[in-house]
Amino acid sequence: MRRTTVKELLSSQELDREVLVKAWVRTRRGNKYVQFIALNDGSTIHTLQVVAAAEQFPEESLKEITTGACVAVRGQLVASQGKGQAVEVQATEITVLGTANPETYPIQRRGSDQKGISLEALREIAHLRPRTNTFGAVLRVRHALAFAVHQYFNDHGFFYVHTPIITGSDAEGAGQMFRVTTLPPEHPPRTADGSVDFAEDFFGKQTNLTVSGQLEGELAAMALGSIYTFGPTFRAENSNTARHLAEFWMIEPEVAFNELEDNMDLAEDFLQSLVKYALAHCADDLQFLNDQYDKELLARLQSVVDNAFQRLTYTEAVEILKLAKQKFEFPVDWGTDLQSEHERYLVEKHFKKPVILTNYPREIKAFYMKLDDDGRTVRAMDVLFPGIGEIIGGSQREEDYAKLTTRMAEMHVPADELDWYLDTRRFGTAPHAGFGLGFERLVLFVTGMANIRDVIPFPRYPKNAAF
Ligand code: ATP
Ligand code: MN
Repeated sequence: MRRTTVKELLSSQELDREVLVKAWVRTRRGNKYVQFIALNDGSTIHTLQVVAAAEQFPEESLKEITTGACVAVRGQLVASQGKGQAVEVQATEITVLGTANPETYPIQRRGSDQKGISLEALREIAHLRPRTNTFGAVLRVRHALAFAVHQYFNDHGFFYVHTPIITGSDAEGAGQMFRVTTLPPEHPPRTADGSVDFAEDFFGKQTNLTVSGQLEGELAAMALGSIYTFGPTFRAENSNTARHLAEFWMIEPEVAFNELEDNMDLAEDFLQSLVKYALAHCADDLQFLNDQYDKELLARLQSVVDNAFQRLTYTEAVEILKLAKQKFEFPVDWGTDLQSEHERYLVEKHFKKPVILTNYPREIKAFYMKLDDDGRTVRAMDVLFPGIGEIIGGSQREEDYAKLTTRMAEMHVPADELDWYLDTRRFGTAPHAGFGLGFERLVLFVTGMANIRDVIPFPRYPKNAAF
């Protein structure tokens, strides 16, 4: 007999038939006449109630049915007599596929969720936390968002491009890249002057893990028109915050002929579509997260879908921040980079909706951003979200070869290493624009979780690469 998922069974209209379900035990309770076993198989946040009558299943025969054990249950799917569920399964046969010793299984249920175990403690058992309601919900939402990303771009004529994970250039992320090498750390080969001889390394040169697929993405956009990347990204920055990971996933669309305005339109429509998708397809999981963690979650998600984002320039934002009554830890002055506290003031206190800031001072932005006519600012755009701060960073790119190489020289970006990139400007250059969306920041926003370490199965951060 084929197994049916809990999700299918709970919404089934076809009652009074024999079914087979395979799932993990969430709880078992009851009395000497009847036992109720709540089963979850990951297909939904909800559990299926299995009823085991004592005449067929004496309590003694159920002693291995403890929280965390895995079982296969055959029985009749019937309308439930109890409240709290529409259907239940009256068991005729229960097979224990795998026991979970209650003395040692770390995820014991208390009340409606794992109230007894903190999210911090669950991080220490990241390999088991998908068994909890919370992480089940987060992982299903994460999946739905990843699917929605591909669907959105496919529907809009974008091509998915795979950019390299191991990169031979450190032009963009110098200082915060993870080195990739096969040289022995104790005795690396040395050149005559005593420095490490990377000519002997696997690739015959120094290589690193990528910090962004953008530069390669630009090459693809100059051939395919509209492209996006969606892949792992690595940053060795020592940011021990609730919004930074050392390994995260980034989505980077890049579009030929788009200018800053188009880039903003794309970012706004894209984010709203993703949130809308989650609201439509993850209703049960989001309701659970709303009830358990963040009572304003659903309202906040809806408001992002319903309200146009506020667009203003960096210069205008600095004026607002200078007039703000709130005391900031870091002072604001034209030319300084905005801190998270400033971004969140603009979004959460001043405008009370997502904000797109544009035209930042050239000194605080990357070399590839297009210079504005005044020569002081660049066509950058950051999208700022409630509770998150920066969720997207992007820009219109400098398409002019002379201006780009001048800026690279000013900023000490080695042109010889980026010669391949400069070919886009040498041959058939065109205006283009793109941005990077940190996927975990999106999942963080949509799930209402407080820490980015809780929205990726195996978080990597300073001093943590367990599992
Ligand atoms: P921040 O200022 O928040 O550190 P950034 O300006 O360094 O971010 P960008 O280089 O603009 O980030 O990267 C594009 C997007 O990638 C960011 O808007 C953010 O959503 C995401 N991102 C950047 N760094 C991280 C990180 N360490 N962990 C998770 N997401 C990140
Ligand atoms: Mn940024």
